[in-house]
Amino acid sequence: MLQQEAEDQSKAAAALNAVAALRETHRLIELYPDLPPEAIFKEDLLRTGISFNEEALAVSARSKPKSYFIFSFDRTALADFEQAEDRRAPEEIALAGGPYRFRRTIVSMRLNPQSPYRVAVEGDGRLQLLCGGEAIAGVELQEVPPYYRRNLKNGKPITEMAPTIEWGYLVYLTVYRKCQYFGFQEECQFCDLNENFRQQVAAGRPYNTVKEVGEILEALEIIDEEDRERRTMAYTITGGSITSKLRGKSEAEFYWQYAEAIEKRFPGRWISKMVVQALPLDDLRRFREAGVKIYHPNYEIWDPRLFSIICAGKDRVIGRGEWIRRVVAAADVFGAARVIPNFVAGIELARPHGFDSVEEALRSTGEGLEFFMSKGITPRFTTWCPEPLSVLGRIQGPAPLEYHAGLLRLWRETHRRHRLPAPPGYGDPGAGRAVFSVSAFMDVIDPATPVAAV
Ligand code: SF4
Repeated sequence: MLQQEAEDQSKAAAALNAVAALRETHRLIELYPDLPPEAIFKEDLLRTGISFNEEALAVSARSKPKSYFIFSFDRTALADFEQAEDRRAPEEIALAGGPYRFRRTIVSMRLNPQSPYRVAVEGDGRLQLLCGGEAIAGVELQEVPPYYRRNLKNGKPITEMAPTIEWGYLVYLTVYRKCQYFGFQEECQFCDLNENFRQQVAAGRPYNTVKEVGEILEALEIIDEEDRERRTMAYTITGGSITSKLRGKSEAEFYWQYAEAIEKRFPGRWISKMVVQALPLDDLRRFREAGVKIYHPNYEIWDPRLFSIICAGKDRVIGRGEWIRRVVAAADVFGAARVIPNFVAGIELARPHGFDSVEEALRSTGEGLEFFMSKGITPRFTTWCPEPLSVLGRIQGPAPLEYHAGLLRLWRETHRRHRLPAPPGYGDPGAGRAVFSVSAFMDVIDPATPVAAV
């Protein structure tokens, strides 16, 4: 009886959540008619997460799987999934059609069994995204690419060594799966990289702390052979920060060896992107000489006070002022359009230290956008999904959707005002065309905007 009551209460709470989510989404779509409605829903899905019913998971399990390519990007710890969602959910979904007539919109999978957004199999046997009982859009899945069916000679799977995201556009090479900013005082407070490593290993996934250069080359050989239609267009080399040495190498030396080996073996086959800390110019020149085209020195959050709290390790080792100077100086090496620092949209409002209002958070983030874009550098963002094993995710939920919708407009306005090209290495811009899946910034760019050369 008690269990029945608890289930009824939980269903009632879920229905209320769904009503509130839809009411807010509709309010923002009306408030901002110049934003694609798909982009507003996409932001809501990224910050809230998505649930699946059993039938939908059974269908999804036959599609390209979620690879946990760097962080968990889930609203739930692996141990708490009751339907093995982490092993059966897709990497991404494409939303299309439905009552809102969505143009095709690619959304990265952030699992949350409590989410009001649910993927389910409907009467006609097709997958649909629902919120409460209301249909939002049709759901398409990506086929398992042929390179996922092969392993390295040592048996390691491509899904672990070189997974692809952005609907197959980007090969994601997390070559070091830990970060030397370790523990409460050092790790970025939104980040679950180290904790995700632990939970994945505990769950028996074939996670490797360090991927060998030879393994990466072998994985890329398989992708190159199997990707006959040349859908993979770029690769990212990344991983945790190295503050001392890793295998006797500094951060720059460690990550450089991968770029150098890949570009020697496959010169220019993919657009080469490097996501590492803001490093001194000499290191960046070596990256450039090795063939790296795009540099992502992620600044995470603009406000100096919040940077020192939320990114305490980076603040201690490099310092915010020096970080920003190095981002700006990197334009001399790569060209401003090819320096693309990321920030984590939403952490500006994270309790207990964040801003009290959406307006203040937008003002601060807008100041950072103006600073960089006035110099031709285009920051991009990942929509924050509070992962429960991160410091911030343990204590609270996501930023309001109002912030994310306001940010899309602010980002687009600033980008337009400075007449900047679309960032290179992300595929096509525009609603219905964008493949970038962890935020909607590419979905809101006018599709006629030229993409910067690489
Ligand atoms: S530098 Fe920060 S965001 Fe990057 S892996 Fe380390 S803790 Fe995470």
